[in-house]
Amino acid sequence: MNSKVLYKLSYGLYVIGSTNGVRSNGQIANTVFQICSEPLTIAVSINRKNLTHEFIEKSGVFSVSILPVTTPLDLIGQFGFKSGRDLDKFANLAHRTGMTGVPILLENSLGYLEAEVVQRLDVETHTLFIGKVVEAEVLGDAEPLTYAYYQTVKRGLVPPTAPTYIKSQNSPDREGGQKYKCSVCGYIYDSAQGDPASGQAAGTLFSALPETWVCPVCGAGKEKFEAMP
Ligand code: FE
Repeated sequence: MNSKVLYKLSYGLYVIGSTNGVRSNGQIANTVFQICSEPLTIAVSINRKNLTHEFIEKSGVFSVSILPVTTPLDLIGQFGFKSGRDLDKFANLAHRTGMTGVPILLENSLGYLEAEVVQRLDVETHTLFIGKVVEAEVLGDAEPLTYAYYQTVKRGLVPPTAPTYIKSQNSPDREGGQKYKCSVCGYIYDSAQGDPASGQAAGTLFSALPETWVCPVCGAGKEKFEAMP
């Protein structure tokens, strides 16, 4: 069996928000899809270990914010590689509370859905939550971020708790650069591409990055990076 074929499935990337009645939390998920139109129903797969899972179980509601292709890596890192047990992920981001009490992202979002859980299905490490959509709005017209774009262009990897995580995942092959891998999140710094978002031009060697430079995904310092063979 060649599990690499799973990389050929297409997905978007979303921030899934929920609440426990006291505070909110959110996480990145790629596994959102519409199930039917009448009534409008969607599904999302969430890892049981995640705080967002706990919140959805408790409140029975969740939001889906749709990320644009221009989403900065640090926002994906904030929601995808950090835990709401350690920080309030929405604290420094424009957001509001929806009609069901869930957090809704108002920056880097093309729109959102709010849903009430009508069914749930235990699937090994994950729960598939099926939700009736009770509110929806468009917030922008940019191109949605796809999982493929995130992996190949933004060079992002996925945490082990993601439904699509495959052991010993490798980044797409690239030629000619000096590569360093973030030991926290798996992001790969490739000197051939640099990190233009933080002002590091293509061709900048890892050793030439300023000491203040941090992983664009998870915020880890240079000392967390390891040279790749
Ligand atoms: Fe990182």
